[in-house]
Amino acid sequence: MLDNIRVVLVGTSHPGNIGGAARAMKNMGLSRLVLVEPEDFPSGEAVARASGATDVLDAARVVGSLEEALAGCSLVIGTSARDRRIPWPLLDPRECGARSCEHAASGGEVALVFGREYAGLTNEELQRCQYHVHIPTDPGFSSLNLAAAVQVLVYEVRMAWLALQALPTKVEKLETTAMLNSQLATADELESFYGHLQRVLAMIGFLDPQKPRHLMARLRRLYGRSAVSKLEMNILRGILTETEKAVRGEPHKQGKSDV
Ligand code: SAH
Repeated sequence: MLDNIRVVLVGTSHPGNIGGAARAMKNMGLSRLVLVEPEDFPSGEAVARASGATDVLDAARVVGSLEEALAGCSLVIGTSARDRRIPWPLLDPRECGARSCEHAASGGEVALVFGREYAGLTNEELQRCQYHVHIPTDPGFSSLNLAAAVQVLVYEVRMAWLALQALPTKVEKLETTAMLNSQLATADELESFYGHLQRVLAMIGFLDPQKPRHLMARLRRLYGRSAVSKLEMNILRGILTETEKAVRGEPHKQGKSDV
């Protein structure tokens, strides 16, 4: 089950932090590390700081974009050391641990996304996450070392996982619910939906590409909160395709609404 949870580090500059994160993960029983454009990796310093968690480092996947790192994930949680301009659904680390484990137990893939040491995650990257998590710190000194932040969150994942082990009936219940519910849309499916939605909104004149304001961010937040299933995603894509056809004056397909 913990194999369904991946830790994604974006644009890490200090290899020591990658090693520290790998060590924290292995301590808590996690093994899937994904690195988005690390500045200096592989590196001896990472191995030194991993202190025996070299298997996690060796298996780490290095990718060129956040999108690639999130492929297949239906729950994406981003971390932030401070408040951002657009308010977003926020979890505390305990809730983050519980949600991640429940989601993983029902067969979904989870990503916990961490930012750069100097600049964190960009607003655009944060908008790819359904939830944000903030480790409650003294407000006057809110930024933790990257590997320390990973440690706090993976510790909470472990605590939630241990709680689930102690409650087999709860796990069984989750598995049954998972079978009954259809699977959730993945991050990559959501991304292509947002692209399609943006094109259609521009086509019908609802979105002005010169003055987009925060429309797409707000729509991402709406859909991100809605736990859209694969079936619902097909319906939404179908509506967009039919809208495009209607605008172009192409013939309308009957019977689409019974999906
Ligand atoms: N100057 C940056 C700080 C980045 S700290 C900023 O203002 O955003 C590097 C990373 O550690 C962050 O991107 C986040 O992933 C994690 N982190 C640090 N402090 C955190 C906190 N209080 N809550 C959640 N994540 C935190």
